[in-house]
Amino acid sequence: MKSLIVNGINDYQIIEQDVPPLSDDQVLVRVEYAGICGSDLHIIHGQNPFATYPRITGHEFVGTIEKIGNRVSAFEVGTNVVINPVISCGQCRLCQMGRSNVCTELKVIGVHTDGGFTQFQAVPASNVIALPDSIDLRAATLIEPYSIAANVFSRLNASAGDTILIYGAGVIGLTIVQVANVLGISSIIVDLLDEKLETAKQLGATCTINPKQENTEQRVMALTNGQGVPLIADAACIPSLIPEMMRIAAPAGTVCLLGFSSEDSPLQQVEVIKKELTIVGSRLNNRMFPKVIEWMAQGKLDTDSLISHEFTLDTAPSAIKLIETEPQKVRKALIKLH
Ligand SMILES: [Zn+2]
Ligand SMILES: [Zn+2]
Repeated sequence: MKSLIVNGINDYQIIEQDVPPLSDDQVLVRVEYAGICGSDLHIIHGQNPFATYPRITGHEFVGTIEKIGNRVSAFEVGTNVVINPVISCGQCRLCQMGRSNVCTELKVIGVHTDGGFTQFQAVPASNVIALPDSIDLRAATLIEPYSIAANVFSRLNASAGDTILIYGAGVIGLTIVQVANVLGISSIIVDLLDEKLETAKQLGATCTINPKQENTEQRVMALTNGQGVPLIADAACIPSLIPEMMRIAAPAGTVCLLGFSSEDSPLQQVEVIKKELTIVGSRLNNRMFPKVIEWMAQGKLDTDSLISHEFTLDTAPSAIKLIETEPQKVRKALIKLH
C-alpha cells in the first residue's frame, strides 16, 4: 500500500509500505477519502509541538472496514465508517468528568499516531463510527471539521435565537456558520477576503464584515444597538484580535478561542470584569460525531460547497503546495486514497 509520510520538517513523500498489523481491539480501515487540514500543514512545517516524525498525518478520514480485531464484535467487514481522531484514556479525572477531549493521556490520530493519508490504517475500534447509508463517504470526510463547530457551540452554551460573531471565513468559520443555522442562531462573519465572505453568505451568514472596508467594532455595535454580541468564536486565531473581541462582546457574553498560538495576547481586565464575560477554549471535539452524523443524514449541512479540490494520493504533494502558495483558493481539499 501507499502512504504520504512526513519524515521531518518540510520533508514528505509518497512511500510504499506494508499494511499495518492489527491488534485485538482495533479495526483495519480501507481509507477512501481524507481531508487536508491546516493542522496537517502545521505538522509538515514543524509548528505542532505534539507531533513526532516520521508521521502519516490526516485526522479527517473515512473508509470501509477491511478487517476486524479478535476482541472487536461491533462491526462487519465492508461497513462505511468515519474515524473520530480523539483517543482518550477513559480513566483520568478529565475523562471521568466527561471532558475526554482534554484527557491527560490525549492522543490524536494523525498527530500522535499515524493517520489517514494512507490506503489502510489500523485504528482503535472505539474511535470508529458506522455511517448510515444516507451519507456518502465523500461528504462524511467533513464530519470531523463539523464536529469542531459543534464543539464550539457546546462550549459557548448557545441556544436558539442567539447571535454569534465569527472571526475567519475559512473552513472552520464556514462550518460554524452552518451549525449556527442548524441551531437557529444567526451569524455575523468577519474576514479580509470578499470571496470567502461571499461563500459564508451563500451558506447562511446573516451579515458579513470586511475590516479592510469598514470598522468591525463600529459595524457590530450598529447592528446590535450598541449592545455587542453575546457569542463570539475566534476561527481566525490571531492573538492581536482578542482585545477587540472583549470590547465587542455583550454583557454576560461568551468568547470561544480556537487558536494554538503561544504568542502573548493583551487583555484588558476591565472589559472582562465590567461585563462578566466568559472566555472558553475549544479543542477538537467531545463526542460530537453522533450529533453531526444526525444533522448530515437529515440533509442539514451543505458539504458540497466546502469541498473545493480533490486529489489522488500520488498528487497529494501538489495539494500541499497549492495550500501553501494559494490558501485563498482552497476550502477543503480531499485526497482520494484508492
Ligand atoms: Zn482538522
Ligand atoms: Zn483520560
